[in-house]
Amino acid sequence: MTLRMRLQPEAIGSGMTSQRVRDRLVDRLREGHHESGGIRDERVLNAIRTVPRHLFVDEALATRAYEDTALPIGHGQTISQPWVVAKMTEALLESGPSKVLEIGTGSGYQAAVLAALGLEVHTVERIGELLRTARKRFRQLGMNVRSKHDDGRIGWPENGPFDAIIVTAAAPALVEALTGQLAPGGTLIAPVGGAGSQSLLKLRKDADGNITQQTLAPVVFVPLLSGMVD
Ligand code: SAH
Repeated sequence: MTLRMRLQPEAIGSGMTSQRVRDRLVDRLREGHHESGGIRDERVLNAIRTVPRHLFVDEALATRAYEDTALPIGHGQTISQPWVVAKMTEALLESGPSKVLEIGTGSGYQAAVLAALGLEVHTVERIGELLRTARKRFRQLGMNVRSKHDDGRIGWPENGPFDAIIVTAAAPALVEALTGQLAPGGTLIAPVGGAGSQSLLKLRKDADGNITQQTLAPVVFVPLLSGMVD
């Protein structure tokens, strides 16, 4: 598989961001840990190995970028744990999507992993400053990601329908506008539940528009909030 990004020499750094450190993260994801099962899809593992996660966090946190943990990105938000990114990406790839919508750009890391897999990525973020920083990273890595500053609970109707939708912030219930923008045969992955703990849901819409749903794992995400901020 060809990963669609421009790898810059500085992207493969030394020490705590080296290829060896990234390979160790990928080994951990493959094995799984605690109740979380291992990631099997080699395309996903390859994308995690390739996308430089340390460029998606503040420099002061770069040495922790290849730990399997969520990290703060400012504004009370977090870059998701690599295992969660890998799990959601694996589930999303099952139905063979090409056009994907993400709600909650945050650092841009999840969007970058999807773009590295050759998917057409659309992403929506409500915090302007996070989105501006994420856009710089996409540019720096030569990634073509379409992004919008908006309240993602309305989705991106002008660009839909989407073959897959991934929501990276938690809501108490599935957002109807989003399931509405899912194409027949499509998959939606979203954490659903209250603050502190949620279930990661996988929803499939069949050719007739019927919806089936499955629980993938217990997860913890920041909340899906309403409105936009600069
Ligand atoms: N996918 C991100 C995870 C970021 S955390 C990453 O890889 O880094 C969740 C993000 O969702 C936060 O940036 C938060 O601001 C954003 N968010 C929360 N509610 C939102 C909404 N209604 N619309 C768009 N983004 C939202």
